[in-house]
Amino acid sequence: MQHIQNLINGQLVPPVSGTYIDNYNPANGKVYSKIPDSDERDVEAAVEAARKAFPAWSVMAKEKRSAILIKLSELIEKNLERFAIAESIDNGKPLWLSRSVDIPRAVSNFHFYATAALHLHDESHSMGALAINYTTRTPIGVAGCISPWNLPLYLFTWKIAPALASGNCVVAKPSEITPMTAYLLAELSIEAGMPAGVLNIVHGLGHKVGKAIVSHPLIPAVSFTGGTKTGEEISRIAAPMFKKLSLELGGKNPNIIFADCDFDKAVQTTVRSSFSNQGEICLCGSRIFVERSIYDKFKVAFVEQVKALKVGDPMKDENWLGAIVSKPHMEKILSYIALAQKEGGTILTGGKQVKPEGELSEGYYIQPTVIEGLAYDCRTNQEEIFGPVVTIQPFDTEEEVLTYANSTTYGLAATVWTQHLTRAHRVAASLHSGIVWINTWLLRDLRTPFGGVKNSGVGREGGFEALKFFTEEKNICIKL
Ligand code: NDP
Repeated sequence: MQHIQNLINGQLVPPVSGTYIDNYNPANGKVYSKIPDSDERDVEAAVEAARKAFPAWSVMAKEKRSAILIKLSELIEKNLERFAIAESIDNGKPLWLSRSVDIPRAVSNFHFYATAALHLHDESHSMGALAINYTTRTPIGVAGCISPWNLPLYLFTWKIAPALASGNCVVAKPSEITPMTAYLLAELSIEAGMPAGVLNIVHGLGHKVGKAIVSHPLIPAVSFTGGTKTGEEISRIAAPMFKKLSLELGGKNPNIIFADCDFDKAVQTTVRSSFSNQGEICLCGSRIFVERSIYDKFKVAFVEQVKALKVGDPMKDENWLGAIVSKPHMEKILSYIALAQKEGGTILTGGKQVKPEGELSEGYYIQPTVIEGLAYDCRTNQEEIFGPVVTIQPFDTEEEVLTYANSTTYGLAATVWTQHLTRAHRVAASLHSGIVWINTWLLRDLRTPFGGVKNSGVGREGGFEALKFFTEEKNICIKL
């Protein structure tokens, strides 16, 4: 059985503890590899290596750093199929999705930040004849990067690429539930010529490795993507240490459909925004609000398309949904479906676990599920489920739907469907949300700021925002 290793000081090494955690294939529920059960000793070694590597890496010509990251991006692209298969086995997502979205995006993340860092410029503020200010940006030192399981390599590289490109050394922890592609990346980083200690990857549990990264006094910046509860815990430790924190947290995204929408596009895209990646994307819309005059027509068309989605073996192209990432997560989603029924909801389609025959019978599968008849403020409509479950309900006025949409503690993303230009702008401006898509969903330009408001997070990733997060500004004022 394959044993994943940590990357510390340019070497693939076992954990100090010598012990490993089981890694499950969610498609069949079987253990297929072993993950290092690392602890604070491994994090300590990684921090030491990163601190040793920092002086040379941080002053290396930007172009040289950029070339190493571009080489890494090219190596991932060359190995795309191998990475895509590994990602699907580890996470349960359909192979067609890993191949077309997850791995290509990891390639782009490195390429984008390798080149973006070349364009980050310092500012100058003249005070006329009196003085001139110039503001420099320097890397922070050792950055801690912690990522979740839903888009494993995609989100892992979204953090480490800007951290490295701006001259920091990194101690990173992927989710213990989906560590495999980070391990493959570690191998390629050595091949790409990344100097020893610049990138360190420590595998293991959140409450051991994650906590050790967050509480390490020599890691002054932490970039975290994951659940809101974990974000809270991290803040509790890091805030009194005055660390820089970037927190990308949970969501409960509204999808608002006005009667004047392009109906067919709205239905098709809502199917995608509800159930892509088994609904395990922080940007998935989980609450669908439809203007009453088209509610019945929309509901019928939507449910018909959802019923046609196949669930099963992630390796087969015909399956639109693969497996849920883990058994505990599957059980959590099923418990929310039960709660929705208790709260008076009616299941229009789905609602059940899927048990394939044969080798995959122990895998974790759930039917795409649509529920109606729930109040906007019930628990099902307020708490993040993070699975293939959406609710649908009618609304009469713009004011009413904005109350529904803004009623949760979250504020990550929202989608609005209308052909009415003025209304589109007005509603977008009134939504409590870091990202709004009008007549589309998940259309991403890596230059744009990405992140949420309220309990969906603090700070923004993307574009120069991330490069700014991983650098410290210094203003120098010269009296003329
Ligand atoms: P978790 O918060 O459980 O875990 C995220 C990462 O943090 C994992 O690597 C985890 O390790 C680690 N971790 C857990 N506990 C601690 C701790 N005490 N200190 C430091 N690190 C810790 O989230 P999930 O992995 O379950 O991911 C799903 C969540 O992520 C959802 O809420 C989703 O909305 C959110 N998300 C947000 C996105 C955004 O951009 N806003 C994007 C994608 C997901 P381990 O795996 O070992 O527990």
